[in-house]
Amino acid sequence: MRLLLVEDDDMIAETVLGAMRRAGYAIDWAEDGRAAELSLGNGVYDLVLLDLGLPKKDGIEVLNAYRKNGGDAPVIILTARDAVDERIRGLDAGADDYLIKPFDLDELAARVRALSRRRTGQKQPVYTHAELTLDPAAHEVTLNGAALPLVPREFALLQALIEQPTRVFTKAELEEKLYGWGEEVGSNTIEVHVHSLRRKIGAEQVVTVRGVGYRLKRCG
Ligand code: CA
Repeated sequence: MRLLLVEDDDMIAETVLGAMRRAGYAIDWAEDGRAAELSLGNGVYDLVLLDLGLPKKDGIEVLNAYRKNGGDAPVIILTARDAVDERIRGLDAGADDYLIKPFDLDELAARVRALSRRRTGQKQPVYTHAELTLDPAAHEVTLNGAALPLVPREFALLQALIEQPTRVFTKAELEEKLYGWGEEVGSNTIEVHVHSLRRKIGAEQVVTVRGVGYRLKRCG
């Protein structure tokens, strides 16, 4: 899951970025409406957190343009308590949900989980692969039925692999899923996460495809 936060207030932005990263999401930050449009043009985001009062281009305009261009990621708008009109315009422009500032970070995380669950379109968004299950909504992994604690990056790595279990991911693709811009990614970072994930789920579960990248072990 890769998120985009559009917010011009540094303090709010840093708090949200920290909380979302700790929850295991890759998240990028756009500080104004123009930067938001450029970022959204990449089409890599699974969910957008959008402040409406923005320099350079208003959040409603950004949202209108995004939806007009076929952007379909869920959008949560972040608005002030007294800005009822703004909220309504945001929802009319295609926002999926809103949060009133100041908001609780746990509530934000819950809304993000709920919308990403809806986006997957599954009633039971639990992935199963051989002896493993991964429940993105509950943020839980089991191995042979027993709960398996993973740190956020291990979880994000396993989620990427298990969502498309036959696909080979390059290191660059995995970095994109695990990290936001500006986060330092060492040259062997993905190898380190693969190594620690293998120690927990079994070395044979993650297959190295020489010269390409990684995929899950074939099952069945
Ligand atoms: Ca603002």
